[in-house]
Amino acid sequence: MRALILGGTGEGREVARLLHDAGWDVTSSLAGRVDNPKLPVGAVRIGGFGGPAGLTQWLLHNRVTVIIDATHPFAERISISAAEAARATGIPLIAVHRKQWEPKPRDRWIPVQSMEEAAKVAARDFHHIFLTIGRQQLAPFAFDPHNLYVIRTVEPPQVKLPPRHRLILSRGPFTKDDEKKLMRDNQIDCVVTKNSGGALTQAKLDAARELGIPVIMVQRPELPTVAYCVHTPLEAYELAEEIAG
Ligand code: NAP
Repeated sequence: MRALILGGTGEGREVARLLHDAGWDVTSSLAGRVDNPKLPVGAVRIGGFGGPAGLTQWLLHNRVTVIIDATHPFAERISISAAEAARATGIPLIAVHRKQWEPKPRDRWIPVQSMEEAAKVAARDFHHIFLTIGRQQLAPFAFDPHNLYVIRTVEPPQVKLPPRHRLILSRGPFTKDDEKKLMRDNQIDCVVTKNSGGALTQAKLDAARELGIPVIMVQRPELPTVAYCVHTPLEAYELAEEIAG
């Protein structure tokens, strides 16, 4: 049995391990955005496929039994490609996307639909803004000359940054105490994040809640509807075994 895992996430690596251990022939696909990615077990290919048509060709050529879309919930284009290629080939597609975060009592979230909207709200209402949104979508914040932005990314951003900024390069994970210290040290009055979900990066939300700091929460894009949709790597693995029968 052969699986293509669209990865770039911890979930992708975990599904690769589960299927590999069960004797599947597994290829994980990464976009190639980071220089030293954490690699999953099994074969790895790196780089785009050339849209849905390229992915369709790849699936047929490699006689894939099951496609597993374990990409980040904000990686919208590759999920659309996967859905289209699955339709075109008839190969079953399992989407595994972690549950989104839900606000808890005392959270002060400001939901927004896009990073552009997040940038407008941040520039209008806050002064010391902590951006923990990765490095791909920083551009909308570059136009604010007044406020201070504390920007944390894993790799150096390639885009213009706001004139007043502090850049922190770090991969994490971070504890709640790390996050509280960063927020206090930089007098943060607002956190901007995407609703990625998952336990690994939620310490910033716990810290913001305890310090009473508002969080501008960018909502997830609407992903294509697929027949098999699960929340955890184990569920994806079990479903793949069931489908392969
Ligand atoms: P995206 O906007 O959906 O993808 C843009 C293009 O990159 C796709 O059209 C595809 O090119 C290629 N691509 C994306 N993921 C790929 C994969 N796993 N394998 C092969 N090609 C891929 O995605 P993105 O938001 O730039 O994210 C890129 C990768 O980083 C994803 O794999 C995702 O899981 C990971 N990641 C993203 C985020 C985030 O916040 N967006 C956070 C953590 C990890 P072609 O059209 O040429 O096939």
